[in-house]
Amino acid sequence: MNILLIGSGGREHALAWKLAQSPRLAKLYAAPGNPGIAECADIVALDVADHDAVARLCRDKQIDLVVVGPEAPLVAGLVDALAAFDIPAFGPSAAAAALEGSKGFTKDLCAEAGIPTAAYGRFTDAEAAKAYAREQGAPIVVKADGLAAGKGVTVAATIDEALAAIDDCFAGAFGEAGAEVVVEECLVGEEASFFALTDGETVLPLATAQDHKRVGEGDTGPNTGGMGAYSPAPIMTPELVERTLDEIIRPTVKAMRDRGTPFQGVLYAGLMITDAGPKLIEYNVRFGDPETQPMMMRLDSDLVDLLYATATGGLSGVSANWREESALTVVMAAQGYPGAYAKGSAIDGIGAADGLSGVKVFQAGTGLQDGRLVANGGRVLNVTATGATIAEAQALAYEAVDRIVWPEGFCRRDIGWRAISDRGV
Ligand code: ATP
Repeated sequence: MNILLIGSGGREHALAWKLAQSPRLAKLYAAPGNPGIAECADIVALDVADHDAVARLCRDKQIDLVVVGPEAPLVAGLVDALAAFDIPAFGPSAAAAALEGSKGFTKDLCAEAGIPTAAYGRFTDAEAAKAYAREQGAPIVVKADGLAAGKGVTVAATIDEALAAIDDCFAGAFGEAGAEVVVEECLVGEEASFFALTDGETVLPLATAQDHKRVGEGDTGPNTGGMGAYSPAPIMTPELVERTLDEIIRPTVKAMRDRGTPFQGVLYAGLMITDAGPKLIEYNVRFGDPETQPMMMRLDSDLVDLLYATATGGLSGVSANWREESALTVVMAAQGYPGAYAKGSAIDGIGAADGLSGVKVFQAGTGLQDGRLVANGGRVLNVTATGATIAEAQALAYEAVDRIVWPEGFCRRDIGWRAISDRGV
């Protein structure tokens, strides 16, 4: 089977690495890719926003499956465009991608289907949003409705902060994404991520993970795309996984089917584990980055089988097997990230890190300059390791980090701390 993988991050490197292990794979192509992905795929020049060009390439290269990594091409309708050419693609239609593309859409769906989530109001008018926030009281959460790259959410400790966030949204701080605002109850608990594949009908639970969004140790400082992750999430007991499937995932899949917009792809549920059980914070309609990196290290099943079955309605009877071990990813970022950072600094030692048994370095924002690997983005490397426990995986991941020579980079030294200190795993 020939596969085209869309994307260029650490998530896509992990997917490419796992796809390349499948005996079913003939040829893997990637666009835009990165130097790490180029080790297991042929990089093709392609404007992913040009859907006809993607379809033409699929015909030329006899592609049997397109795997879409990031959310933007999904929300832009790439999978719909490929369906018109009968090209199977892993990922939802634009209509189903609204589960990530519009927070208000997801909240309404939860309300209709009785899915546990924070109480909320949707507003297109600042005064009405402010009145609701005042009525509910602080702490309260203000969200731009659309995609805002993780920056559209304010967890407001005071009403003044909430009112300012509402003003920011309507003043255009997030462009079109902020034309509508969701104001919602502040949930209390520990966060976890849950991933499930669905072909629109059958749900196949994958794995659990937790990530570290803040840039600073102890989970402090500004939000980032994610500074590290581990899988499984020890908080997600088998009972909580069952409840998440029964109360959140399966009702969502059914509601999407009932609306005539079945969801196909991976559902990534951001959960708050509250005293009353799991509640949905948000959906993403693609794999998590960096959660996918530790998950792919643990996956024992053939990823080509899983993704092809999802894309073609054949998930019934398919299972996913996971190694008993834990896996943990440390993100190495360019100094200054998530603020301004420089590009072009040289990186050495990836081979030495990869040489450790149980370690794989996935590349994200990297490039080649005169044949040398250089930093080309904010989040640059994802050093991933396995171990019998999260503590063992953590120790090995940092041993690998220490083999990488990149003075212009940094990482947090405490990835996994909550699992290790609170839960002793
Ligand atoms: P964007 O849409 O800007 O890309 P996002 O999709 O990352 O942002 P969410 O995941 O909905 O936005 O929220 C980001 C973070 O804010 C969550 O991981 C969580 O820590 C916090 N958060 C969101 N909603 C709530 C809530 N109702 N109660 C408590 N914390 C919340």
